[in-house]
Amino acid sequence: MKNAQEITIKGDTYILELFQDISERKNAEENAIEAKKAAEEANQAKSEFLANMSHELRTPLNSVIGFSDILLEEVKGELNDPQKKYVSNIARSGKHLLSLINDILDLSKIEAGQKQLEYSSFELHEALDEISKLTKPLISKKNIGLQMELPSEDIRVYADRKKFKQIMYNLLSNAAKFTPDKGTITIIANQEKDKLKVAVSDTGIGIPESEQATIFEPFQQVKSSKSSEHKGTGLGLSLVRELVEMHGGQVRLKSEVGKGSTFSFTIPDKPTTN
Ligand code: ADP
Repeated sequence: MKNAQEITIKGDTYILELFQDISERKNAEENAIEAKKAAEEANQAKSEFLANMSHELRTPLNSVIGFSDILLEEVKGELNDPQKKYVSNIARSGKHLLSLINDILDLSKIEAGQKQLEYSSFELHEALDEISKLTKPLISKKNIGLQMELPSEDIRVYADRKKFKQIMYNLLSNAAKFTPDKGTITIIANQEKDKLKVAVSDTGIGIPESEQATIFEPFQQVKSSKSSEHKGTGLGLSLVRELVEMHGGQVRLKSEVGKGSTFSFTIPDKPTTN
């Protein structure tokens, strides 16, 4: 106290100012934390809303698709040509909308923390065979060659099998979509130190460097005329990234316009907690 008294009024003010400074900084920090919390809660509410809405939309949409398919099979009577054309338009648009809703549902479930991984151990060669069969119609329609460069020994993957297949399906169907007729797609897999690395390479149109980061964001597509010829939702790569990161892995892209693209991802041997 003696010191305090010895200090002139100016000194007292200095101490007071110091306290004010600290309390102002504390207020600002508290406000920032509050704002961050509010933003996270709003984002969570948005994801939950999207997840619920997508679910509600799927039920009637499945009935639109189901009944238009039945009409197309003509089991309830023959359709004339314009009727067939209209009904197949309904079926095609319905399916496109369903895949869009499914992707939104998946993404929002991941963001809302509602999607859990179901780990199991499975054989890599087997999973890749299944996926290549699934994508065969897309690939052979364009006379594209599919090659696999896999280690000769069996590799066991410890991951969510369904989601691993979804990652591969999205990458392979993109490769098929953006590779011209008679091109080549190569799947390369290697066991690295403590992770599996899988790459999907194509000899397609490539992606400009300026757009390589943004295409992983939802609804982002390359703006070039060649790319926009292809119908898509712009959600496939966001899902790939989310699903890989849920496993504790990473996605990488190397691409050159006119030459092709390589999307690769890693899956750690042991699940990481993040
Ligand atoms: P979608 O394929 O439905 O448009 P994606 O999120 O899967 O959505 O891809 C986003 C965009 O990234 C695509 O529209 C395309 O412009 C670009 N892209 C993705 N994969 C490739 C590829 N293998 N080659 C060239 N461009 C690609």
